[in-house]
Amino acid sequence: MVGRDGDVAATAATGADGAADRIIRAEGVVKTYDTGTSKVQALRGVDFAVERGEMVAVMGPSGCGKTTLLNCLSGLDQVDAGTIWLEGQDLAKLSDRARTDYRARRMGFIFQVYNLLPVLNAVENVELPLLVSGVRPKAARVKAEEALATVGLQEWARHRPAGLSGGQRQRVTIARALVNEPAIVWGDEPTGALDSKTANELMELLRTLNERQGLTLVLVTHDAGVGDRCDRIVRMRDGQVVGQTGHRLAVPAGVATG
Ligand code: ADP
Repeated sequence: MVGRDGDVAATAATGADGAADRIIRAEGVVKTYDTGTSKVQALRGVDFAVERGEMVAVMGPSGCGKTTLLNCLSGLDQVDAGTIWLEGQDLAKLSDRARTDYRARRMGFIFQVYNLLPVLNAVENVELPLLVSGVRPKAARVKAEEALATVGLQEWARHRPAGLSGGQRQRVTIARALVNEPAIVWGDEPTGALDSKTANELMELLRTLNERQGLTLVLVTHDAGVGDRCDRIVRMRDGQVVGQTGHRLAVPAGVATG
């Protein structure tokens, strides 16, 4: 189900360094928050790369810039300096509208807070992004049912979030993240609200999706259990990447390993 080629994907450049298999590439990313009274340098020149089909954890102490990096990489937030390429496309060269459209077509998001609409049942929550992007209701419903089946929730499609357990709710958000057949799924503390057994089951599910469907996953997390399930752990501190461990090292220039 993953791997639908959109316009941007079709232009996936090999890049100057021939890194065609790097679905995500970032160089020298700087992001400063200016609150008016103070400036916080959240990212201080981050280099980062992910290969297609890789499952990567970004770890580090609270405040080191993990969420900021995820927001910048996924185009939710703009960078002050540096360049981010997704599928060979320089994000900064897209108009706001093209970037929003690209996000809707090619990305899925899983957050700690489920962000499910309480008045909608599971299948309605899952189909919502499709309806918003203009897919016909019948087709959207079929895809949403399929996505719920993928996460093992077909029996729960007519239940509202309040009638689901925490683990089931997080599965609904995964189904919603998958329903547009994304190339990249971003997770921000995807297990943060779950007990360890449920978190474990969720990671099993994400790993299976990664292996069976070749889904690329980037997960920001405090949870060592999440890192253990990933191909690679990128470690951050004080707005910088300070190292990485794992068995599939795609090392961008200037990043230490170990
Ligand atoms: P992490 O995800 O690793 O906990 P964040 O990316 O959330 O770190 O934050 C990095 C730094 O940027 C922190 O010092 C944080 O306080 C600051 N920061 C994050 N978002 C904002 C914001 N919207 N305005 C001001 N400062 C922010």
